[in-house]
Amino acid sequence: MPSPLAPTRDCDKCPRLADFRSANRAAQPDWHNAPVESAGPLSARLFIAGLAPGMRGANRTGRPFTGDFAGDLLYATLIKYGFATGVYARTPDDGVGFEDCRITNVVRCVPPQNKPVGAEQKACRPYLVDEIDALPKLKTILALGRVAHEAIVATFELKKSAYPFIHGAKHPLPNGTMLTDSYHCSRYNLNTGRLTTEMFESVFNTLS
Ligand code: URA
Repeated sequence: MPSPLAPTRDCDKCPRLADFRSANRAAQPDWHNAPVESAGPLSARLFIAGLAPGMRGANRTGRPFTGDFAGDLLYATLIKYGFATGVYARTPDDGVGFEDCRITNVVRCVPPQNKPVGAEQKACRPYLVDEIDALPKLKTILALGRVAHEAIVATFELKKSAYPFIHGAKHPLPNGTMLTDSYHCSRYNLNTGRLTTEMFESVFNTLS
């Protein structure tokens, strides 16, 4: 049963993503191939927003960031900073526990070429709004990448120009929480050096 905070398994709000899902189900019947629910407790003070499930990552395994390159650095960092426990083994049954931290994707279905279009980002926004409303202890939202940052800004109906995406920046939000930005921990960003482990950890050093 999906939680009310998640799209249904066969959500058809985004025709392109629903078509892609059907093709993926036919090609890989053993994979998750459905919207990916957030992971972590609703009592979390830290809420992490990624972009969208990776094809062979969360789209395959069903847990955000699990099984793809981006998850390696994210889970290692969460464990190092006490936001997760256990040993990350790239599978949803690896026993990793989330501590005071919940992870979502601003688009819940895997998009072709990992690029959700604007209408898809918008169609998924109600789930983001519901998630944020469902976190009574929320203190910090960590946006991984510009698309996640802009989705959070849009969720609060704020002006994009007043909230620029800058790695390491902190933006106070109207509900008393803080939006913190980081470059996405994607393979591309790590391979090009836009993001390093040190840069990622320096953001986590400032999270409270
Ligand atoms: N995997 C996810 O679940 N989200 C991302 O943003 C990237 C990879």
